[in-house]
Amino acid sequence: MSDDSQQEAQEVLRRVFGHAGFRGLQAPVIAEVMAGRPALAVLPTGGGKSVCYQIPALLRPGLGLVVSPLIALMADQVAGLIQAGVAAARLDSLTSPEDRAATWARIEAGTLDLLYVSPEGLLQPWMLERLSRIPLSVIAIDEAHCVSQWGHDFRPEYRLLSRLAEVFPGVPRLAVTATADARTRQDIREGLHLGEAREFVASFDRPELALSAERKAGTGRKRVLELASARRDRPGVIYAGSRDGTEALAAELCAAGLPAMAYHAGLDRDLRERRLTEFLASDAAVMVATIAFGMGVDKPDVRYVIHADPPASIEAYWQEVGRAGRDGEPAEGITLYGAPDMAWALRRLEGQALSDEVRAVQVRKVRQLYALLDGGTCRTAAVRRYFGEQAVADCGRCDNCLDPPKAEDLTLQAQKVLSAAHRLGGRYGRGRLVEHLLGKTREPSAFEAGLSTFGVGAELPAGAWRGLVDQLIFDGLLREDPNEGRPLIGLGDADAVRAVYRGERRVEGRLVQRHPGAGADASTTPGRRRRDGPGAEFEGDPQIFATLRAWRRAEAVRQKAPPYVIFSDRTLAEIATARPADAAALSRVSGVGETKLARYGPAVLALVAGQTPPGDGNG
Ligand code: ADP
Ligand code: ZN
Repeated sequence: MSDDSQQEAQEVLRRVFGHAGFRGLQAPVIAEVMAGRPALAVLPTGGGKSVCYQIPALLRPGLGLVVSPLIALMADQVAGLIQAGVAAARLDSLTSPEDRAATWARIEAGTLDLLYVSPEGLLQPWMLERLSRIPLSVIAIDEAHCVSQWGHDFRPEYRLLSRLAEVFPGVPRLAVTATADARTRQDIREGLHLGEAREFVASFDRPELALSAERKAGTGRKRVLELASARRDRPGVIYAGSRDGTEALAAELCAAGLPAMAYHAGLDRDLRERRLTEFLASDAAVMVATIAFGMGVDKPDVRYVIHADPPASIEAYWQEVGRAGRDGEPAEGITLYGAPDMAWALRRLEGQALSDEVRAVQVRKVRQLYALLDGGTCRTAAVRRYFGEQAVADCGRCDNCLDPPKAEDLTLQAQKVLSAAHRLGGRYGRGRLVEHLLGKTREPSAFEAGLSTFGVGAELPAGAWRGLVDQLIFDGLLREDPNEGRPLIGLGDADAVRAVYRGERRVEGRLVQRHPGAGADASTTPGRRRRDGPGAEFEGDPQIFATLRAWRRAEAVRQKAPPYVIFSDRTLAEIATARPADAAALSRVSGVGETKLARYGPAVLALVAGQTPPGDGNG
């Protein structure tokens, strides 16, 4: 970027968005777009992708177009921009004819800076035709990974966005996403006709996120209840694998006194909209959702994501836990998983009409996910390596970093389990397999009692054997056949099993499972937010912070807007810490741009000074 446009961009960042300086790769991405070139930016959730296209849209002549897949997200972004004094609007299937006409009038008068559209809306011929006569500053394609069929969010309509290259040849196009491995990036490049566009890939690290994972006991529902109850008064998202699962869990949480709501594709649209609005507006609600609606439940101050059922892949995992802590404040991602979950995931792939190549990739993705969940090394580092980052250091925040599992050599025990499974011929489930090892099978047949593996495992308790069976399943040494809900255990990959028999491959693990919840208990997790403060390092006045939050809540209700589009938690925390005495001091707080300063400054300054705010705070 020329020094001039660099300075201009800085100035807009400060004046409009209230931020002192660019973060991460924002400045180089903006420079590329300002120069009129296409680009692909992979920035982590919360990394500030939106200013990468919003600032060029404000600085370059013409209308900025943002293609976004979800109406709820568009609504949020547009509300936030309007709060910041930016001329922004959206056109989607919910826009009324009057609003539509008014928006087109602004577009044609050249007074609109940013327009948000859905891909299917944009690709209607009349829409393209009408827009092709209007000067455009930039076209941003949000959630660009949706173009890739390898990803978990594949959206066929994204494929058609390749047409934008021909319809708007002179307009820089910026594809942005939070998750894309090298293969997905290649797909984005090809699918969107980005040609030689420069790639900007930020670190996948999320320093505010503390990850943990636990093997489920039974269905794991009791544990979810425990975890959520220990996190009362904080917004959270709980993912469950089925619609019924979300309903049942939400009901149990409500019975335990938590403000929980179910959210899934089977609910009627009005109810879904209402629940989403309620969740976005709340600073304590729990959304129990299916992953089908993942992108619709975005909210910056989500403090935890719990997977009651595991995600589908590491990409999905990172995106789903990534919905916690988007505001940069400490947050947690807790995943419950079990060997049956993996068996079902693999079985589901078998039943799908996929090419062999795609199926093989998907099977590998499932295996990699469970290796990560069941593994004993730093989880954040494992994810970052998975996405191709090199020289990654351990995070020091996840359960494995805080409480490293002591791995023992379990090769001998593994050999016993594998031979038993082999001799039993894959005809029994894990309970029966463990009884066999212990020699405790009730009324064993003469055949079974005569096997050399019968009672060969008396040295360990049943729980340890069950844990080892699960580990061997995660390692691919055993295979679980779901068998319509009565799972059977058989041998896994033959070469790997042979290597273990011969002692060429060692098996390491822990016989005693970590106490469930180690590192995931809200009262002991380091760096957890204080109950009524925004973060562990918060040193501000808690009274002022609480007062500001109450004012923001009232303001949000009055404006029918989500609280965080007014000010983020972080901005309120900074105000409670800096305790600005005048407008100049307030304007130095990150997140306070000119428009918000004029609009809310008097009320905020009065509250900080311990006075009643003048009027309704709306200038
Ligand atoms: P993403 O879409 O990448 O998840 P957003 O664009 O929503 O992230 O930004 C996340 C948060 O970071 C927002 O609250 C935004 O105001 C804030 N933010 C963005 N850029 C900066 C910056 N340069 N300095 C401080 N905060 C920023
Ligand atoms: Zn770690």
